[in-house]
Amino acid sequence: MARIVMKFGGTSVADVKRIRQAALHVKREIEAGNQVSVVVSAMSGKTNELVGWTREAAPVHDAREYDAVVASGEQVTAGLMAIVLSEMGIPARSYAGWQVPIHTDDAHGSARITGIDATELDKRMNEGWVPVVTGFQGVAPSGRVTTLGRGGSDTSAVAVAAAVKADRCDIYTDVDGVYTTDPRIVPRARRMNKISFEEMLEMASLGAKVLMIRSVELAMAQKVRLVVRSTFDDPNAPQIAPDGTPGVPGTLVCDEEEIMEKQIVSGVTMARGEAKITLRDVRDRPGVAAAIFGALADESIIVDMIVQNVADDGSVTDITFTVPDGEYDKAIRTLQAAQNIEYAKIVGSKGNAKISVVGVGMRSHAGVAASMFKALADKSINIQLITTSEIKTSVLIDDEYAELAVRALHTYYGLDRQDV
Ligand code: ADP
Ligand code: ASP
Ligand code: MG
Repeated sequence: MARIVMKFGGTSVADVKRIRQAALHVKREIEAGNQVSVVVSAMSGKTNELVGWTREAAPVHDAREYDAVVASGEQVTAGLMAIVLSEMGIPARSYAGWQVPIHTDDAHGSARITGIDATELDKRMNEGWVPVVTGFQGVAPSGRVTTLGRGGSDTSAVAVAAAVKADRCDIYTDVDGVYTTDPRIVPRARRMNKISFEEMLEMASLGAKVLMIRSVELAMAQKVRLVVRSTFDDPNAPQIAPDGTPGVPGTLVCDEEEIMEKQIVSGVTMARGEAKITLRDVRDRPGVAAAIFGALADESIIVDMIVQNVADDGSVTDITFTVPDGEYDKAIRTLQAAQNIEYAKIVGSKGNAKISVVGVGMRSHAGVAASMFKALADKSINIQLITTSEIKTSVLIDDEYAELAVRALHTYYGLDRQDV
């Protein structure tokens, strides 16, 4: 017997028919003698609709009420999933975050899970029940409902898996695993059998939204075995692992040590909607970067790539960085209002794309950045900014060339499937 947490994303529970399809996967696991807790997202599109309503009600509003509204989507699907399972003869009941309870801090809209009391889930599973838990939400110390940030149900699922000491956390979605790049953009993308936590973390933070970043962080820290697989596979088909043996289909996210064949480049990602801001002729003195980025941090503006040029004559320099498009105007206003930064002017542009190549093999192989620049140059794509870390290289380019760049790099690093 295994203990499994099964998480179903928005498209997997988009209507009652799909909830039935998802429930058949749960039925299969129960009939195989396993214990299961289910975590559900809201129906696809629902959270966007709810967010839209809060904005319509008032563009600026209380984050606690935002959470009260947007958390409701998951309650609908949890209840429906419990009804469908019961109808199939599987004892099930739904739990809102506060009923579990899933404790979070009080950062409404992007709360962090601080602890889960697994007593009730344990008890129910031991009795043969399937608890169906709302993803994306929890309860603050004040007793008010919180949400975890967009895509947060993945994090709920991993946290529940850690709390109930599950053998596995299966993330059921609309693709059958983690691919070398978004399969919707590159049809020749290849499914990976395994990916290391480190690579998955980079890919998630660089734009592969198949898993929320925090869910990967949590799985890595708590040693949760995470599998990404498809809800739309036949629930009654024999369970075959990617290597052809009986097992779990999909992509296993695991420790690097479990992966024999280490690719130099494992994946390519694309993040759109990146704004670039340059401060020209900044007075070059100690503390200037602290003043600029301190002012932005005080406004909770998340800065990503940062480049500072060498001052020609030692007196002034240019500093360039990126923020999400949505934060562009606020960032400019913040810098204009800051008292202690001297510069000649601010220039910038919205709508750029960050393209990255990721791979643990980069640790031991030279020249990946150089070959990436060459592949982009061959397509006459101009690079605006570059950043690197131990296992990734990222470039900022004009959005117009984003998909071309992803496809070119995917081919260049030999990641294309040959059978399509
Ligand atoms: P869910 O609603 O199930 O949480 P998401 O839409 O959040 O699903 O994530 C699944 C989507 O992630 C896929 O439909 C796919 O387009 C996208 N995606 C982006 N990058 C990748 C990747 N490298 N591998 C697989 N899917 C990816
Ligand atoms: N429903 C939430 C969202 O769309 C959480 C999730 O689906 O993971 O962001
Ligand atoms: Mg998701």
